[in-house]
Amino acid sequence: MSDKLDKNCIFCKIIAGEIPSKKIFENDDMLVIEDINPQAKTHFLMLPKWHVADVTELDEQGWTKIAKCLAKVSSLTKEWHLENGFRIVTNKGFDGGQTVGHLHFHILGGEKLSDKMS
Ligand code: 5GP
Ligand code: ZN
Repeated sequence: MSDKLDKNCIFCKIIAGEIPSKKIFENDDMLVIEDINPQAKTHFLMLPKWHVADVTELDEQGWTKIAKCLAKVSSLTKEWHLENGFRIVTNKGFDGGQTVGHLHFHILGGEKLSDKMS
């Protein structure tokens, strides 16, 4: 697993502070920001702090770190008053609708979401 950021990647630039973002939470492994084009009342993006293209590109060490990140969701969503529920989504590739090639997890909530998965 590489610890490196990719200088051509928009989310790496956000992690490096080169592009501004509304930061919600940060630790050694991840940054949570507000999505610039929210699809729900609450729409955050959880970004791993190393460049990895998508969920299929994670190695074992990467998966261990992602598991730690996702384990934080339980306490964080309580802080964010999402106890009524929320949705976590990660898109992969063209058919999945991925538009930024840096793995990220959408956290959507704050209202009743559509029953459709997309
Ligand atoms: P994807 O379509 O790849 O699953 O999700 C990419 C998400 O990143 C989209 O929801 C889009 O609104 C968001 N996004 C794209 N560029 C930026 C940006 O510069 N800042 C922030 N905060 N979000 C962005
Ligand atoms: Zn990146």
